[in-house]
Amino acid sequence: MHTVELPARDAVSQSSTLRALPQHCKVCGAEFEAAPEAICGSCLGPLEPMYPESRRLPSRAEIASRAPSMWRYREWLPFEGTPTLSQDTGFTPLVDAPRLADRLGVARLWIKNDAVSHPTLSFKDRVVASAINAAKALGLDTVGCASTGNLANAVAAQAARAGLPAWIFIPDNLEPAKVLGTAVYGPHLVRVRGHYDDVNRLCAQLADRFGWGIVNVNLRGYYGEGSKTMGFEIAEQLGWRFPTAVITPMAGGSLLTKLHKAFGEIRDAGLVDGETPRLYGAQASGCAPITRLVESGGETIVPEVPNTIAKSIAIGNPADGVFAARAMRGTGGWSAAVSDDAIVAAIRLLAETTGIFTETAGGATLAGALALADQGRFSKSDEVVLCITGNGLKTLDAISGSIADSPIIAPRVREVAALVEAAGA
Ligand SMILES: *Cc1c(COP(=O)(O)O)cnc(C)c1O
Ligand SMILES: [Zn+2]
Repeated sequence: MHTVELPARDAVSQSSTLRALPQHCKVCGAEFEAAPEAICGSCLGPLEPMYPESRRLPSRAEIASRAPSMWRYREWLPFEGTPTLSQDTGFTPLVDAPRLADRLGVARLWIKNDAVSHPTLSFKDRVVASAINAAKALGLDTVGCASTGNLANAVAAQAARAGLPAWIFIPDNLEPAKVLGTAVYGPHLVRVRGHYDDVNRLCAQLADRFGWGIVNVNLRGYYGEGSKTMGFEIAEQLGWRFPTAVITPMAGGSLLTKLHKAFGEIRDAGLVDGETPRLYGAQASGCAPITRLVESGGETIVPEVPNTIAKSIAIGNPADGVFAARAMRGTGGWSAAVSDDAIVAAIRLLAETTGIFTETAGGATLAGALALADQGRFSKSDEVVLCITGNGLKTLDAISGSIADSPIIAPRVREVAALVEAAGA
């Protein structure tokens, strides 16, 4: 264990080369030079980037003058120098949803709509935009990931654009749209017989062996920081204030943990004041190890074997599950587990009330919100943000059985008239 010198600001502003920040262990505090390493050599805890205490932070006005992307919060992303890859990811819409607010019995409700994230229609574009710049800064010329689907899409697309080869590993049972929506970018795509947790274990062995930057394995410290930008955007888009509650789906538990970190960082920076929002998580009951941990009050995850249509969040042994559970309990939030039927019903409810078509993870989020409302966890004065993290066009099979076939007619007014009458219009 040794102490790492942070670069002096002046040295950095004169240099045009991109550097990744050094990291420290979230558990024991040991410090490490910037490297494609995500695990503490002393205690096996996760590593996180260390930001120079003395760095100058931007004002609200300065942030507002920057391009509408996640990089407008660059002081909170883990680099010295100027990142150049994937510059246009982030700043997705925050959409007012009054009918869902009524349904939940709260004052206001907004959808943070990462179903339209650029370029691959899920919030994973944010974490990959951060990780791919880390790969570049660390001199890695091949990237990869272990993915439940959306991460595969995002790594394949952003690597293609950067001109980097990518090795992508997925479980063999993923939705066709997620497989094709990865393969089209021309990566090395490998399907592994097993669940995500088997794929992840394999990737941990591959990173060292081949010297790759596996974004959610050995670059995980740099990857996770990209998720914070969703939290910064929520506060800025609400006029630099916090909602009272935020609900997000959980796979590895990283997004929820990083939203918590983001809210703390902008409050410390003096950009927002007021209480940190209560953080709520949602999982499918066929894979809900983090929800079970919140419910039991324990301190260690009991791994599960996933069995749910919500494949994008089906991680049985979540890397950040303990931190996510702490963030929920610490903010006065809670966690929900919802059935596959409830997920499908919620996908339809979101579409019918807001015009937003989400995938199964977003269905879990809204179904979780409804379940938490039934438990009496919201009040009439609550202002709630639902994080909708992925796009419904990627998981059509999940809902195809629940939607009636449309009528087919000859091109005649009389046939339409019959339908109008039957519709009671
Ligand atoms: C990966 C993913 C999540 C959750 O990610 P974690 O940070 O691992 O908890 C949520 N929604 C979608 C659509 C995802 O692909
Ligand atoms: Zn440690």
